[in-house]
Amino acid sequence: MASRRKSSRKKSSSYWTSRILTLAVLLVAGAVGLVDYLWNGSTGGDKISYATVASGQLEVRILDMGQADSILIRTQEKAALIDAGENDMGQQVLRELDQLGITSLDLVIGTHPHSDHIGGLDTVLEEIPVEKLVMPQLPDDLVPTTATYLDVLWAAQAQNLEIDAAQPGVSYELGSGAVLTLLGPVGKYDDLNAISVVSRLDFGTCSFLFTGDATTLSEENLLKSGANLDVDILDVGHHGSNTSSSPAFLAAISPIASSISCGANNSYGHPHAEVVERLSEYGPIFRTDLLGTILFTSDGSSLMASSQRGETVVLKGEALS
Ligand SMILES: [Zn+2]
Repeated sequence: MASRRKSSRKKSSSYWTSRILTLAVLLVAGAVGLVDYLWNGSTGGDKISYATVASGQLEVRILDMGQADSILIRTQEKAALIDAGENDMGQQVLRELDQLGITSLDLVIGTHPHSDHIGGLDTVLEEIPVEKLVMPQLPDDLVPTTATYLDVLWAAQAQNLEIDAAQPGVSYELGSGAVLTLLGPVGKYDDLNAISVVSRLDFGTCSFLFTGDATTLSEENLLKSGANLDVDILDVGHHGSNTSSSPAFLAAISPIASSISCGANNSYGHPHAEVVERLSEYGPIFRTDLLGTILFTSDGSSLMASSQRGETVVLKGEALS
């Protein structure tokens, strides 16, 4: 009897110990969650990896720049940037590069000279050595006289960097077998959105299409040009506006998923409902206004998406570590 009482006392004390431990763990988890909420503005935290990209893998980051664009592509060997957000976002792009340990860029593309695409580019060019800078060739009557555009020209000049005119068909090696090929602009335009640089990225059997703010007219000309538009991931044109993403263009691409860069509650109503409806027929849509920065990872045959505020989704093949 005595020994049974003893054992029951023992049991009871270990019961309370485990209760206290559980409570402590919950309190710590709650405190971490609160700090996370205050820091990131949401629960769930930053689920995006900033670790070194794995050997033989490719990463495409659709950076959350609000109502602006910036896309970072990297392999173990090289890094490329497409656009750099608004005028006041250059430092934000630099912080992303710094967090990833990127100290130079092999390729930078300014899709077109609007501030929500090249606004932060001067700041990036002032701080980071760039191997190649590509922008669309503009007809004389479209050359902007804005400080945004002139700042980029001066920053490039200060780096002794010539700006290459985007030539459809030209390819850039981005390491580990990844190749970025320019598809557009093709045709003549009288507005800057339409003249956006359009490019596709191929990595093994996985592929992406980046269209800047290309319009339905640009899309029509791309289709006529016979360019290979069939990719896995479409980075949707013009922040999901209905002036882009025509049904014929989407049919030629037939993406398995798409990404949209847009600001939460933006005044343009981007992405437009009809575009979202059209895209949803092709697969999941990853939006920066809802999910924060989106990260696509590929090993050349598998493809998955993760984001700051969402779950990881395997889009093709198997989950990658
Ligand atoms: Zn834009």
